[in-house]
Amino acid sequence: MARRRGEWPADPEPLPAPVIDNHTHLESIPEVLDDGVPDPGVAAQLERAAAVGVAAAVQIGCDLDSAEVSVRWAQEHPRLVAGVAIHPNEAVLHAGVREIAPDGLEPAPLPRHTASLDDAIARIAELARGERVRTVGETGLDFFRAGEEGRAVQRESFRAHIALAKELGLPMQIHDRDAHADVLDVLSRDGAPEVTVFHCFSGDAEMAAECARRGYYLSFAGPVTFASADAVRDAAAVVPATQLLVETDAPYLTPAPHRGAPNAPYLLPMTVRRLAEVRGDDLAWLCERLHANATSIYGPW
Ligand SMILES: [Zn+2]
Ligand SMILES: [Zn+2]
Repeated sequence: MARRRGEWPADPEPLPAPVIDNHTHLESIPEVLDDGVPDPGVAAQLERAAAVGVAAAVQIGCDLDSAEVSVRWAQEHPRLVAGVAIHPNEAVLHAGVREIAPDGLEPAPLPRHTASLDDAIARIAELARGERVRTVGETGLDFFRAGEEGRAVQRESFRAHIALAKELGLPMQIHDRDAHADVLDVLSRDGAPEVTVFHCFSGDAEMAAECARRGYYLSFAGPVTFASADAVRDAAAVVPATQLLVETDAPYLTPAPHRGAPNAPYLLPMTVRRLAEVRGDDLAWLCERLHANATSIYGPW
């Protein structure tokens, strides 16, 4: 029987040892649900995840509203810690830039945010001081839609977040879409925070090797399971196990064979299993390694 697009997939087989979801946006789940598909809420999502071996998660709030929510949820839910930042695409909106992207795409039809970029980052800096906030992120560069003016704003915002992570001694989570060389260049020039994590790594094996050489962590998401994503699997195969993380980036990037359905932390086991296959790692061993990496970066929960 065909599954209707948008329904929650069934639980995957539980993992043999617990792992942690490096990057999720639980507050965005209601926005992607089709009419009539239930929203279980944060507590139920976390319980469902824990039942299949996803013991905890880093809840990422990357605009002003979701950053506030993320900090509150991390205080309320012991399985969550928070990350806060202004996403590169949000930075463009705070700066009031409206332009046509180089590929002719219209910019996102969104109004300018009322807060200036400086004020928005200042609020993030306040929130980032909270005990349950364990990373500055996601920040970085997203050249998918941004033209020259937007890209300049994103660089400025990225550099401010790098400085903030260093000032507070926090790990940084990077968003890099179609901007690999530029992200690496900014990190080289300014100096990366001591712990730097590429969320949803989308580079090739050559870039993965370069990131590993620099000591960065690489976090892999649902694309590891996509038929078209050989380059990402090749990248995942060359990362040292001590620098490897996994994430859902929920509610986006739902692992195969459930693409099109909403994503949530309980679906992370599908990505972890594929990662173990691609790397030739024993599954239980890999889970233990992934858990140890995440707790050494963000923990204790
Ligand atoms: Zn991202
Ligand atoms: Zn994200």
